[in-house]
Amino acid sequence: MKSYPMIIGGKAVETGSTIAVINPALGEPFAQVHAADAALADVAVAAARAAFPAWSATPDAERSRLLHALGSALDSHTPELMELVTCETGKPLRGLNDVGAGMELAGAIAWTHFTADIPLEPELVQDDEQARVEVHRKPLGVVASITPWNWPLMISIWHVIPALRAGNTVVIKPSEYSPVAVSRFVELANAILPPGVLNVVNGAATVGAALTGHPDVNKIVFTGSTRTGKQIMSGASATLKRLTLELGGNDAGIVLPDVDVKAVAPKLFGAGFHNNGQTCACLKRLYVHDSQYEAMCEELARLARNAKVGNGLDAGVDLGPVQNRAQLDIVNALAVDAREAGGHILAGGKPLESKGFFFEPTIVAGLTNGSRLVDEEQFGPILPVVRYSDVDEAIRLANDNPNGLGGSVWSTDSAAALAVARRLECGTVWINEHGAVQPNAPFGGVKQSGIGVEFGKHGLAEFTSIQTVKISKS
Ligand code: ADP
Repeated sequence: MKSYPMIIGGKAVETGSTIAVINPALGEPFAQVHAADAALADVAVAAARAAFPAWSATPDAERSRLLHALGSALDSHTPELMELVTCETGKPLRGLNDVGAGMELAGAIAWTHFTADIPLEPELVQDDEQARVEVHRKPLGVVASITPWNWPLMISIWHVIPALRAGNTVVIKPSEYSPVAVSRFVELANAILPPGVLNVVNGAATVGAALTGHPDVNKIVFTGSTRTGKQIMSGASATLKRLTLELGGNDAGIVLPDVDVKAVAPKLFGAGFHNNGQTCACLKRLYVHDSQYEAMCEELARLARNAKVGNGLDAGVDLGPVQNRAQLDIVNALAVDAREAGGHILAGGKPLESKGFFFEPTIVAGLTNGSRLVDEEQFGPILPVVRYSDVDEAIRLANDNPNGLGGSVWSTDSAAALAVARRLECGTVWINEHGAVQPNAPFGGVKQSGIGVEFGKHGLAEFTSIQTVKISKS
């Protein structure tokens, strides 16, 4: 079984302890990574701190050039990294609507190149006979990045590249469930970046908490569950660290009654089931008008029954396994509860007989807000379809949730869709699509889905502090 070291201060670090990484399609380990403890997390932070003065003083154009070189390294190692992502997450190499490991690599590369070119110029807010006032952006120092298991490489890129671009140094702790592709990426990156600029440590909550509470870490960028986000915020409060938290979502989609059901259903299915529903901004609750409810449910159930589930390394597979056993148990418990709560399982409804963590793509009708499957984030291949009779009611039900990451409205009438969209309580709203993020548009949650945004110039700014410079002329 291949073993991956951590990279700290530019050196490969192996320890006595390792984490076995399970391939969820087989239910057995395929690789292992070396693991840190809190003391080694301190060493990594010290390495990042030591590298900070030189990296932050490196001319912007040179940092940009090196980040483009990281993008090229991802590009030239795409087949290897795709296979690692598929083995550790279960997601197919290509997958439903091409949203698989290939897209994860393509996204990682695109975000890297785009972010490398975002300008960070000072802003002039006043220049008159009294004074010249400029707003400058400075790096924060050491950034700790803590990432989840669903899009391990792409989310790491979302954290690391803007942090480095702005002149910070980084310690990344990937999820203990999926640390392999990130470990390999950091190894590749260290052939390009100066030592200590980008470090990786492996471990679970204790290593994450060691970074969160560390006095020499200036910012935490975290993507993961709302529960863990709250713990991180609390751990970061002692030293008043800057935070970007991208947390859970329970995204609602509202289908207005004018749509062509057959044309829209495949798009809705893709929005709910890509990556097996394990994306923070997947469509997780679907509100459909009375007049089209049966037809839409039937069409979605047909698509669910036809989706090909299997090992993501095999050609033609749409959906892989759920990423880990604990998540499979959550999805199954929600299916059991949905049945007991009076939901009609129109397709799927149970785990597949397998050593892997497979669950049948599942469509549930007949539930509404107040049932667990509608109120809680399922993060798996099971979608509740909720009936509504007037649009105001649908908007109320969509907003009746502590989460506020994304939302969508589906209609042929773009003015009507926009009017509904603007009333949804969420950080991004899509019309006639759902969950499509892009490197130039800020993305983040409102309510309990997070703090701050990622991507584009707004996301980049979160890795800086403002220094206002006033030059008096009087
Ligand atoms: P999930 O496993 O569902 O993605 P988590 O939010 O538990 O959700 O995990 C996301 C990341 O947060 C992982 O890298 C995990 O190891 C890390 N983590 C878990 N608990 C803590 C904690 N208390 N402090 C810091 N990091 C944590």
